[in-house]
Order: sequence, then C-alpha cells, then structure tokens
Amino acid sequence: MPVMKTKQPVEVIVIGGGAAGLSGALTLARARRSVLVIDAGEPRNAPASGVHGFLSRDGMLPRDLVARGQEEVARYGGSVVAGRVVSAAHADCRFEVTTEAGERYSARRLLVATGLTDELPEVPGLAERWGRDVLHCPYCHGWEIRDQPLGVLGTGPMSVHQALLFRQWTSRITLFPADRVEVTDYQREQLTARGIDVVEGAVAAVEVDEDRLTGIRLASGRLVEVTAVALSPRMRAGNVLLSLGLEPVEHPMGVGEHIEADATGRTAVPGVWVAGNATDLAAQVVGAAAAGNVSAAAINADLVAEDTSIAVAALRRAQEVRGQAESQRL
Ligand SMILES: Cc1cc2nc3c(=O)[nH]c(=O)nc-3n(C[C@H](O)[C@H](O)[C@H](O)COP(=O)(O)OP(=O)(O)OC[C@H]3O[C@@H](n4cnc5c(N)ncnc54)[C@H](O)[C@@H]3O)c2cc1C
Repeated sequence: MPVMKTKQPVEVIVIGGGAAGLSGALTLARARRSVLVIDAGEPRNAPASGVHGFLSRDGMLPRDLVARGQEEVARYGGSVVAGRVVSAAHADCRFEVTTEAGERYSARRLLVATGLTDELPEVPGLAERWGRDVLHCPYCHGWEIRDQPLGVLGTGPMSVHQALLFRQWTSRITLFPADRVEVTDYQREQLTARGIDVVEGAVAAVEVDEDRLTGIRLASGRLVEVTAVALSPRMRAGNVLLSLGLEPVEHPMGVGEHIEADATGRTAVPGVWVAGNATDLAAQVVGAAAAGNVSAAAINADLVAEDTSIAVAALRRAQEVRGQAESQRL
C-alpha cells in the first residue's frame, strides 16, 4: 500500500458520510470550522427504495439524501472525499487518519459516523432480498407491507417482540423460531392472543419467484407462503478506531456491538466523538442526523474552549514579555 504525505490539515475529520456524518459536517462547516468527510459510500439503507419516517424527506431515495447532504456541506466550504479509513493515530495534539488507499489526513478532532453492519443469519436467498422484502424495522417498512402475510424469522432475544410489534401493521404473521429462539409459555400465550402462528423447525431457504419473495421453506420440505420476512440482524459497529483504543462493546440489549458515548457522542478517547448507528444501534435516519448535529455542536464548543485556552496562554506570555521588558527598562 503506497503511503502518501499528509494532506492539508483541517479542524475536524468526519469518518463516514451518511446521515449522521453529513449532518455533523454541515453544522461544523456552518460554524466556520474546516471539515473533511471521508466516506466509503455504503450507507446502511442503500438497498431500500426510500427513506421513510424522515419528516419532509419521506420516500426519498437513500442516495439522493446523501447527494443532497454532500451539496449542503460543500455550500459552506466543507469537503467530502471518497475513501475508507483504516486507522488513526494521535500525536502532537492532532489526529492523523489513514485510508485504505494510503492517503493521510490530519485534524484536531474526529467525528466517527461509520454506521453499522447488519449480520444476517445464513439462510439461502435471504441476503439477496435484504432491504427489499427481507426487513428489520417496522417504522421503515411496516407501512409498505401492511396487511401482507409476513414471516418473522427467529434470530435471538428480540424476535418474539418483533413479531408482536409487526402485528400493528399486519394480522397475517407467522413466527419461525428456527431452532434459534426459545419461546416461553407466556410468550406463546401472547402470540396466540394476537393471532400469530408459530411454526417450529429449521428453515432451509427463502423462496423467490420472478423477483418476489414467495415463502419460507422449512428443512422438512414444507413451504409457508409469505410475501415478506422480518428479522432482527446482529448489528455491529465497525472498529475503525481500534488503533486509538476505541473498541465496540456489547450492547446492553444483546442485539450487537456499539461504541459507547455520552449524550453528545463524546467517547472515552479525548477528542473523538461518535454519532448515528455506530453508537445508537436503533437510530433511524432522522435520529442519526440529529445526533450528528448534537456531536458537531459539542465538538465546536470543545474547540472554542481550546482556542480560548491557547489565546489566554498567548496573552499571558505577551504580558509576561512586556512586563520583563518594562522591568529591564526601569
Ligand atoms: C434496509 C434498511 C432500510 C432502512 N430504511 C430506513 C427508513 O426507511 N427510514 C429510516 O429512518 N431509517 C431506515 N434505516 C436505518 C438507516 O439506514 C440508519 O438509521 C442510517 O443509515 C444511520 O445513519 P448513519 O449515518 O449512522 O450510518 P450510515 O447511513 O450507514 O452511514 C455510514 C457511512 O459511513 C461509511 N463508512 C463506514 N466505515 C467507514 C470507514 N472506515 N471509512 C470511511 N467511511 C466509512 C459507510 O460507507 C456509510 O456511507 C434502514 C436500514 C436498513 C438496513
């Protein structure tokens, strides 16, 4: 990998240019901070046909939202470059990040907005349908599959809850524990009361016909006809800043791994903030954008505090030098 010389330093590097990163960059650029977004260009919702539930943006194509965000960042002097950050180092009060292509960038603060990876169970046919008719979030897709026959594929502790939740959108639900979920007697009572069928047994495949999901095939050979499948993937925040000691940890709900942070996104590593799905696994687009905005304001306040300390130190030095010069004159 060729290592190139460090590019023009900026005040803030945003790693990841989805809703969280671009929103953070916009706020920082408008705060007259020099900001650079480095983005690998794979937002989590890319396979979806629209962004839903984002007031004033409902139904917009995910790539159009990103393009609009990039334009807004550029309008205030921020830059967006394509690239994948692979490591970061801290030295002399600055961070230096390196991309896969060997480019190096330097900044006073970092905002990590790298999102998360959805890990799907290994069922033939499933991954190809992800974001189309294999879904996870009722607020993102529930309206689109309302009243349709839905299979909820068991993956872990949230699966029964997910089946009960989707019941708000359709009454035609079958839960497949798929030998991965143990359904308690009380949960069975809840499912029965809500008219949700439970079909036991290993799942062999997701059946597709003419580019439409048609059912779930069990290992026994039985086919249960459904037109959509919901599941809870294991969600894993990337470990892009492992080199700075920023390690994703298990989420308290047992649904994946995230980077811990306070309400403003401040992490345990001074100078590094995190926003969006990388820390909040449940954040939707509007929540990720809001988090980027909050982190950006916190970063700006931190830089203002540092700028002020530097200015005060310089003022004191100047006063000291003036005082010494005057005492020598006397
Ligand atoms: C199929 C699907 C459909 C969805 N539909 C909706 C919906 O309708 N409405 C809704 O509100 N939410 C929806 N969501 C959730 C939505 O995707 C997230 O809320 C949102 O993407 C979180 O934004 P983010 O900025 O945190 O992460 P992302 O949007 O995932 O952006 C992260 C960015 O960082 C980049 N990146 C990652 N690692 C690196 C690296 N090392 N260096 C540089 N860049 C990197 C990625 O390529 C990506 O561009 C959906 C999710 C899925 C999976």
